[in-house]
Amino acid sequence: MEFLKGVHVFETYATTALLVDDRLILVDTGVEDDTRKLLDGLAKARVNPRDLSTIFITHTHPDHVGGLATIKADSPAKVAAHRVEADFISRKRTYDGPPRVQRHPGTPVDVLLEDGQVHDGLRVIYTPGHTRGSMALLDETRSLLFVGDGANNEGRLGPMDDRYNVDPKQHRESIRKLAVFHFEHAIFGHGTPITGGASARFVELAKRL
Ligand SMILES: [Zn+2]
Ligand SMILES: [Zn+2]
Repeated sequence: MEFLKGVHVFETYATTALLVDDRLILVDTGVEDDTRKLLDGLAKARVNPRDLSTIFITHTHPDHVGGLATIKADSPAKVAAHRVEADFISRKRTYDGPPRVQRHPGTPVDVLLEDGQVHDGLRVIYTPGHTRGSMALLDETRSLLFVGDGANNEGRLGPMDDRYNVDPKQHRESIRKLAVFHFEHAIFGHGTPITGGASARFVELAKRL
């Protein structure tokens, strides 16, 4: 579905988002089993994977990186991730946090991102704690935050389940960090997107952590 103008959201196991501007950008790639669904979604939005400029991976969990190898096989898009996460995505290093099972084929990361950097129109907000190199992405033009698994909005806005956080305390610090930014809208890896007043909800959440 088109969530905002030029922002498509695909309900794979974890949400994948497509940005259609002068450039075409994908944020995350779903679980491997959902790749067909994701490619169908792109086709529906009349986007050919060959025309994508950047695929941002918020973190290396299988529900965010699973479709990457298949999409990359047919696309010259650059893969961009936080530099701390890159070696887990490429599988140069074995991911040592929960969940233990990592089956995705390693895909090289082309663009190593730093906190605060703007790449292809999105500002990187480093949000470690869920994984070591998790990041959120801020589209300042649309006032839209791609939260990744920096928090979840399943039923209610809250932290991710600590069973899946490499460092629960740091995960909460990262939520406090997100609450400092201003954004009207938010798209989550898990849960309902928020339209309007999103950062105020993060401020409330940060207070009750
Ligand atoms: Zn995750
Ligand atoms: Zn997830």
